[in-house]
Amino acid sequence: MSKKIALFPGSFDPFTKGHADIVRRSLSLFDEVIIAIGYNTKKNSRYFDIEYMVERIESAFKKDKGVRVMLYNELTAGFAKEVGAQYLIRGLRNTTDFEYENSIAQVNRYLNEGLETVFLITSPEYAHISSTIIREVHKFDGDVSAFIPYQL
Ligand code: ADP
Repeated sequence: MSKKIALFPGSFDPFTKGHADIVRRSLSLFDEVIIAIGYNTKKNSRYFDIEYMVERIESAFKKDKGVRVMLYNELTAGFAKEVGAQYLIRGLRNTTDFEYENSIAQVNRYLNEGLETVFLITSPEYAHISSTIIREVHKFDGDVSAFIPYQL
């Protein structure tokens, strides 16, 4: 049987404990989970350096064999095909996430019929964590260590 490969795409600016929880739970469903950080070379709008974030995420999963971290700069549906992923993972925190994710999933299905989107509902202890809030706290020198699964 072919290996079940799942792609978990996002900006991950930064990667949070909420994201890490989604990855860990995905590992019990799939053989391999590829965390794919999407970036756009034209707009240099990231807060955390992307290479640094790759390294930090790798450090958080160094004991987990099935996790890979990659960068991509193209349509997620196309990138999934290239890496042989049959599943696309997204996390849902609330109805706002759902509204947004619903339309993305429809477009991705149209673009890549071989890709099944799988939604995991956030664990309640991480439901309040968002990259946006972490960036705000960090900008004003606040301590964000409780929200991220690695040291900055
Ligand atoms: P994007 O820019 O693609 O929305 P993010 O890095 O913000 O990327 O999020 C990646 C995925 O993780 C999305 O599916 C998002 O809904 C999900 N996610 C973000 N925060 C959490 C959380 N605290 N718990 C569960 N899922 C989350």
